[in-house]
Amino acid sequence: MIADYHNHTSFSFDARGSMEEYVVKAQEKGINEIGFSDHMLIHESKNYPRMTPETMPAYVENFRRAQESSKLPVKLGVEMDFMPGNAEKVREFVSQFPFDYVIGSVHCIGDWEIDNPDQAQEYMKRGIMQVYERYFALVKQLCASRVFDILAHPDLVKIHGYKPDCDFSYILNDVAKTMAQADVCAEIDMRGLTRPCKEVYPSEQFLKILRAHGVSITFGSDSHEPDELGRGLSEGLRLAKKVGYTDACMFDHRIKRHERIA
Ligand SMILES: [Zn+2]
Ligand SMILES: [Zn+2]
Repeated sequence: MIADYHNHTSFSFDARGSMEEYVVKAQEKGINEIGFSDHMLIHESKNYPRMTPETMPAYVENFRRAQESSKLPVKLGVEMDFMPGNAEKVREFVSQFPFDYVIGSVHCIGDWEIDNPDQAQEYMKRGIMQVYERYFALVKQLCASRVFDILAHPDLVKIHGYKPDCDFSYILNDVAKTMAQADVCAEIDMRGLTRPCKEVYPSEQFLKILRAHGVSITFGSDSHEPDELGRGLSEGLRLAKKVGYTDACMFDHRIKRHERIA
C-alpha cells in the first residue's frame, strides 16, 4: 500500500495540472492513494506562489469532483508555511475545512526563502551551521505547535548542497525527539533528488534517527505537474525499508492509521 500525499496542482501557481489529471496518473502509476497539498498562505507576504483563503471553496469543490470521479481514495490536504507566531492562525484556518491532513513546512527564515536558488548566497553570508541551527529551531517550533500532521521535506535546508562540515546529529536527535512527543509524521519527500543536494529529504542519517525515536512516515513526490507524480518513490521506499520502516501513515479527516508499505 503506497500513498503519495504531497502533490501540487494549478491551485499552487508554481504548478500545473488539474486534480482529475493527477488522479488518472495515480491510477496509471499504481499508486494506491493520492492526496493534494497545494500551498496556502494566510499571512501577508511578498510574492510566494500560494493560494489565499478566498480560493479555498473552489479548491474543496474541485477536490470533491476529483474524488467522485476516482476509483482510488483521494485525500484533501494542504501545505502551510510555519512562521513564528502563526500557528494559532493556522489551527483556526484548517479547522474550517474538511482536510484529511495538514502538512507543515519551513521554507523561510524571516524574509529569506531558503529554497530559492537566487538567494542561496545567504548560506555563505550567514554561515552554514548558523543557518542549519536556525532552520531546525523553526522545524522544532512547527512540530511542538501540534497544529500539523506531517512535517514536509524535513531537512529542506540542504537543498542547495550546503552542509556543515561538523557533526550536527545532536540537532537531528533533538528534532526527532520533539516530533515523537508531538506525534508529527516525517515526510519522505523525493523532490530533493532533483535538487543540487541530490538526496531524498530526509537524509538516510536523519531517517535512521527518526526511526530510532519512533517517528512515523508518509511519502510525497512533491510533484508540481501530473507527470512528476510518484517520481522517486522507489528510492524513498528503498531508504525507508533500509532503515527499518515497515509501514507508513494514511490519514482520514486528520485521524492517522498505519499501513504496510509494499
Ligand atoms: Zn514545500
Ligand atoms: Zn510542496
